[in-house]
Amino acid sequence: MGEAPPVQKRALGLKLVNCPHCNAPLDYSLGETLFTCKYCGYTFSMIKEGEYKEIAPGKHFMLASSFNEAEMREVISDWMRKGIFKAGDLAEKSKITRMELRFVPIWIVNVSADSTFHGKKRIVETERRTRPSSKPGEAATVTRIRKERWVDKSGNLSHHIDWKILATKGMSLPLDKIKLSIANKIPFKIENVSQGAKLINGDVDEETAKERTESGIRNYHRDKALSEVDELQVINTNVQLGEAQLLTIPFWFIQYKYKNKLYPIIVNGSSGDVVEGEAPMGKYDILVIGGVIAAVIIIIVIAIALWPR
Ligand SMILES: [Zn+2]
Repeated sequence: MGEAPPVQKRALGLKLVNCPHCNAPLDYSLGETLFTCKYCGYTFSMIKEGEYKEIAPGKHFMLASSFNEAEMREVISDWMRKGIFKAGDLAEKSKITRMELRFVPIWIVNVSADSTFHGKKRIVETERRTRPSSKPGEAATVTRIRKERWVDKSGNLSHHIDWKILATKGMSLPLDKIKLSIANKIPFKIENVSQGAKLINGDVDEETAKERTESGIRNYHRDKALSEVDELQVINTNVQLGEAQLLTIPFWFIQYKYKNKLYPIIVNGSSGDVVEGEAPMGKYDILVIGGVIAAVIIIIVIAIALWPR
């Protein structure tokens, strides 16, 4: 038999994780390093076996859950009734097959970034030249000349923002699309985690969150600069990382069934916004979409045919 990979060895050697504060056993999966004890609310990151670092209460906040299960069912019914291209009988004919409230940890890193960039921008112009005909009575000839030139362009970018990093890698949540009212945060208290809800462990520590914030904002500035120039020659970005805070946010993970097919919905449990949701189309929606596409193509074809030359 060959040697087991080191990760597996470590897993076998790992004792059950107990809360360093109240000693209660914690649910634990391999690779997880960030825990909140569901009994006492103590939050810590595990550096290595037997070595912990507390996430101080002053650094751990939460958004309160604003909906109980019955209210959440109402939110979902409303969502099913609203919006275009959803089956008309969706709210009546679908059945919720799973509802789970999970409290998900997110790092909020306060960051300032200032960039100066320099590049070149391509400018394309068409010049219209009219040459009168030499023969009387004959129409003038019009030619269009396409001219391209490059101009220098410099700019500055400056942002001071709260950058969001999901503290748990295995979960897919479109954080950039989620509106978070961070201003509504309250200090984390285990009493405010709804009964029966699941506290999600994390696997991204504070240092990693800060590193990812720094590379994230550098890429963001690079993309912004690239939207202003066609050739980016230099970009200098100065990043200043501030405090990182852990924010635990309630999300409802829902699954429903419609005509024997399952569809997922994720709802922000604090705001009630549907973060992600799939819905079957109505019977005639495909015809409508097809019709719109056909109309657009026809308009383009006509426009090209009639375009003055
Ligand atoms: Zn505890």
